[in-house]
Order: sequence, then structure tokens, then C-alpha cells
Amino acid sequence: MSWFQRTGKGINTPTELKREAPDGLWYQCPECKQATHTREHKQNSFTCIHCNYHEKLGSEAYFQLLFDEGKYTELDANMRSADPLEFVDTKAYPDRIVQTEKKSGLVDACRTAEGIMHGKAITISCMDFGFIGGSMGSVVGEKIARGIDNSLKKKIPFLMISKSGGARMMEAGFSLMQMAKTSAKLALLDRAGIPYISLLTDPTTGGVTASFAMLGDFNIAEPGSLIGFAGPRIIKETIGKDLPKDFQTAEFILDHGFLDFIVDRKDLKDKMASLLAMIYK
Ligand SMILES: [Zn+2]
Repeated sequence: MSWFQRTGKGINTPTELKREAPDGLWYQCPECKQATHTREHKQNSFTCIHCNYHEKLGSEAYFQLLFDEGKYTELDANMRSADPLEFVDTKAYPDRIVQTEKKSGLVDACRTAEGIMHGKAITISCMDFGFIGGSMGSVVGEKIARGIDNSLKKKIPFLMISKSGGARMMEAGFSLMQMAKTSAKLALLDRAGIPYISLLTDPTTGGVTASFAMLGDFNIAEPGSLIGFAGPRIIKETIGKDLPKDFQTAEFILDHGFLDFIVDRKDLKDKMASLLAMIYK
């Protein structure tokens, strides 16, 4: 046997995928595998210029996309989670929080900000998947509730951008209470006649889908987003049937009447502004 024979299979990289450029200069799309210059990718609102794959973004990127000149005032920026249940899994919950803060540079899975969008004031709450899977605990619920309060007080529209694996298990029942709290706050917004738009991004699942994410005056989504409550495996086992193709994609959900429309991220700001101008003074 030759010294240089390659015995392992599946480790051949096709030429077009070989990286020759330094990291950070090119973005490789996880969907079509084609490369785009990072500057061009950013100018394209972080959507693939070849296949329109929408890259997963955090709150800062959405704030930069939506607020005029990327300027905003963050509300409750330092609200941090307590450990009401003294929860321990593979590590203690407070340790997990500290570690995640260090890794993500965030203090929890949601940020709320007020700013101007095409000349009109708006409050936006946006979830961050990079913080314990965008899970909804007490801080996420409270920040959203206070964001709604801000909209109520100033009579300005509220936009929620969801991206979440669902309720945060480390806060168990306290997480579930956030569903009721945010829903009750949204009812106050509705009574005051102030618009609420819910944007569902990839992925939006669990208790988030089952509460504020589906309560918008308009429920809209980014193309290709996974949207659901329970995962497909559990549903399949429960109903004992094979699931249709594209099950739980934004396109499937739209076809079945759960969404008002799907919006390309490149048009998000313009569409948001014209929609709000139509329904609100
Ligand atoms: Zn692509």
C-alpha cells in the first residue's frame, strides 16, 4: 500500500468550494454554496445574490436595516435573567448565562429599541437566536411587554421580529407565563388602535409561535423560514401520517392561511413603512 493513498471517503473538496480568499472577505451561501463578496452580501441585506437564501441575522443587523441611518435608542438594555428555580442541567443556569453573555456579547435573547423608520417613530423588539437558541424566558417576555408599553405611551407602531426555539426550559413555568403577559399587553395595544406587525424569521417555533408571533394585525415572514409549534417528528408520531413536503415553511404556512404575506428582506423596510402609512396616521 502506498504511503500517500487516501483511504477515507467523503473528504474530497470540489475545486469550486476550496477557499482561497482570506476569511471574512467572502460569504459562502450554506444553501447554494456559491460565494459572494461580503460587502455585496451586506448591501443585499444579507440575502444570497444567487439563490436569495436569507442569512440568519441578530437584532443589531435588523436595527441597522430598519432604523433610519441605523440610529436607535435601546430600552432596558441591561435587564438580566435571575435564576428563580435554581436550575441545573449540564451546568448551573447562572453559569450558562455568564458564558453565553461572553460568547454572544448579548445580555439576553431579545433587544428592544425605539427609532425612526422612513421618518416615522416605531418600537421594535427583536430576538437573538445566538442567546440560548433565542429562548423566551422572563427577560424576553418583560422586554417585549415594556416595548409594547413604550408604543402605548407614545402611540407609535410596534414591530416584533421573532426568531426562537420556544420557551426557555431553565425558567420552566416562568417562561410560559410570558406567553400570557405579552398577549395581554398586545390586547391593550389593539384596544388603543395602535398597529402591531409580527415578522416571523427562521426559525420561529414553540411558545413564541403560540403567543405574540401569531397575534399581529399583520403576521408576515421571511422566505423559507421554518415556522411551527412542535417539531415535525412529534407531529408525525401523534397523527400517525407522513407529513407533506415543505411542511412548516413560510410558503406552506402562507398557503394555509396563517400568514398575510412573505416579505423579501431587501423590501422589508419599504414595505413596512408603506403598510404602516396605509393603516395608521
Ligand atoms: Zn445561495
